[in-house]
Amino acid sequence: MPITTEDLLNWLIQSAHVLHENRDFLTQLDARIGDADHGVNMDRGFQAVSARLPALAGADIGTILKTVGTTLVSTVGGASGPLYGTAFLRAGMATSGKHELLVSDFIAMLEVAVEGIKTRGKAQLGEKTMIDALVPALAAARQAQEEQLDLSQILRRCCNAAEEGMKSTIPMVATKGRASYLGERSAGHQDPGATSSWLLLKALADIYQ
Ligand code: ADP
Ligand code: MG
Repeated sequence: MPITTEDLLNWLIQSAHVLHENRDFLTQLDARIGDADHGVNMDRGFQAVSARLPALAGADIGTILKTVGTTLVSTVGGASGPLYGTAFLRAGMATSGKHELLVSDFIAMLEVAVEGIKTRGKAQLGEKTMIDALVPALAAARQAQEEQLDLSQILRRCCNAAEEGMKSTIPMVATKGRASYLGERSAGHQDPGATSSWLLLKALADIYQ
């Protein structure tokens, strides 16, 4: 079972709903170690994405993802805008002209998206950022592919690993982004960006339940 263009559009709509519902939660997380705007930023960005989706009917997956990327760069603001924007732009470049994604296409796409965030933000595992959710998610997807699981199982493993990675940020001391200004005082709080990354991957897994 591949990921179709329709699935992708569905995921983006669901993501916009989920980020809207979690706007206050994400903002509260950011209030503890940042500037209390992550939920507002993500909600603004994905509402703008939602508004652009109707004009993308019939477009290929690469075009849709690139449009998401440029929309996020221009509307999210904050550190997360260019980071998620880069991820979607790179994902779009990796899927140019495609109307469906096989498991191998999906994993290749996730890989370039995560690499894009790493290149742009220079964060490594353990620095209390979205990377701590995304890198384990990618590793779990690869592992599940090796075990020849089907798409829904792969996406569930990917989402579960992102959730664990998100929780792993709680004791971490931030060394990148705004939270790093707090130094040791950033420990004991869950990273907002790792949380939004988990929510996005969960929305995708939930499509194939
Ligand atoms: P800002 O920090 O500019 O207010 P947001 O609040 O929207 O932006 O996003 C904060 C999130 O961005 C953090 O929780 C973290 O996950 C992520 N982040 C910040 N800097 C980096 C970085 N250099 N690499 C990866 N992720 C980062
Ligand atoms: Mg912030």
